[in-house]
Amino acid sequence: MKKILVTGGAGYIGSHTVVELTEAGYTPIILDNFSNSEERALEGIAAILGKEVPCYRTDCTDAVALREVFEQEPGIAGVIHFAAYKAVGESVAEPLKYYSNNLGSMLTLLQVMEEYKVNKLVFSSSCTVYGIPEKLPVTEQTPVQKANSPYGNTKKICEEILTDLADSGSNMRTIALRYFNPIGAHPSARIGELPLGVPNNLVPFITQTAAGIRQELTIFGDDYDTADGTCVRDYVHVVDLAKAHVVAIERLLSGKAANIEFFNVGTGTGNTVLEAVKAFERATGKKLNYKIGPRRPGDVPKIFADVTKATVELGFKTTSTLEEAMQSAWDWQLHLEETSTKA
Ligand code: UDP
Repeated sequence: MKKILVTGGAGYIGSHTVVELTEAGYTPIILDNFSNSEERALEGIAAILGKEVPCYRTDCTDAVALREVFEQEPGIAGVIHFAAYKAVGESVAEPLKYYSNNLGSMLTLLQVMEEYKVNKLVFSSSCTVYGIPEKLPVTEQTPVQKANSPYGNTKKICEEILTDLADSGSNMRTIALRYFNPIGAHPSARIGELPLGVPNNLVPFITQTAAGIRQELTIFGDDYDTADGTCVRDYVHVVDLAKAHVVAIERLLSGKAANIEFFNVGTGTGNTVLEAVKAFERATGKKLNYKIGPRRPGDVPKIFADVTKATVELGFKTTSTLEEAMQSAWDWQLHLEETSTKA
């Protein structure tokens, strides 16, 4: 039962990964400062697994506290590093907050991992590193471009730091997973996305609108050069994405990985915003109230992944359709409604 430290393990992708790691026979240890996650994620994980997962309420930028976790948990075999801020708009308004937290947490983690001779790392990266790609789908060879936001830049800089480390002759082995658009929730509806305030992302906005929490969804622009004029994204079920972390850790532990490797994690299919809305309506039988609004500044018109590399080298596969992902997102929304009414 190999111990895997999961920073940000109470967050959206982190909590699903903790479940999948456990089901694959690993012992995850959660580290989270709960700045953008809630205690109920731990309750949901425990409900799914029938047992509690150890959790340290620790800030990853705090080297002293991080060392304490490594002291308390000897024998950590690898780390999956999710802990980071992720709101694009906020990062534009507060860039220093993003640079200091996202770079600081990774640098502190790397330093402490080195001290404790833990040298396997899965890093949460993002397709944002591709900017506005010239050719689609994007492969891992698609050139990385200037980031569109401080948030995107923190992902790009973290990848660069990890590459420099790999080139330095360090024995750190890293896999950076470049996520496309994670959506949906665990089929049990016990864990899912918990946006703070008004959601920035499409799917929580859709489910909150269908639940009557928001009046209507605004689709940001219908004059793009796409099939129906709305932006194209690659929506990947969060459980499939979580499983990609398990196979990435397996690859690192097997000793097969190069010093640093990058993998796209998406479905390989692009869908427009309107197609996503229709998929939600078909899956749930609910009619969504929406209108077309102006473009959102900074939006990439069209992006989707080539996932050949992850398929061939990691054995990654997607198991859910867009409808299934939407259904699971809705089930989670209903669970939230139910539990908040009871509270
Ligand atoms: N989107 C939208 N209305 C919303 C939120 C998002 O039309 O209220 C669109 C957005 O313009 C993009 C897609 O949905 O084309 C996915 O946006 P999201 O913020 O979820 O992810 P992004 O790909 O921008 O990181």
